Amino acid sequence: MEPVEVRAPEGARLLEIVWDDDSTTFHRHHVLRGYCPCAVCQGHEGPVRWVEGTESLPDEAFVLRTIEPTGSYAIRLEWGDGHGSGIYTFDHLRALADLFDEPESEAAGHVFHR
Ligand SMILES: [Zn+2]
Repeated sequence: MEPVEVRAPEGARLLEIVWDDDSTTFHRHHVLRGYCPCAVCQGHEGPVRWVEGTESLPDEAFVLRTIEPTGSYAIRLEWGDGHGSGIYTFDHLRALADLFDEPESEAAGHVFHR
């Protein structure tokens, strides 16, 4: 499945993705940042886990500055604090969408295999 539209209105705390099967997923910026899949945040091996210290990042770390398609399988997200090495595969985004309805306190406890 692929996104046909990605929306992140200025000032919003949510990323909205419309997929080519007409489904729409919603992603809290906080959760996307917490599960940034990049090597700086996750190392080069093992599953993707909540990045420790996410809670204490400054507010601008949760503002989306750039959303950029990467190949035909992912989008790159760059945050307001300059962190921009996270390449989020469509699979990872769809898995993260399942966390949307969870309370903040539980959203950090997941492990995603890659
Ligand atoms: Zn990262």
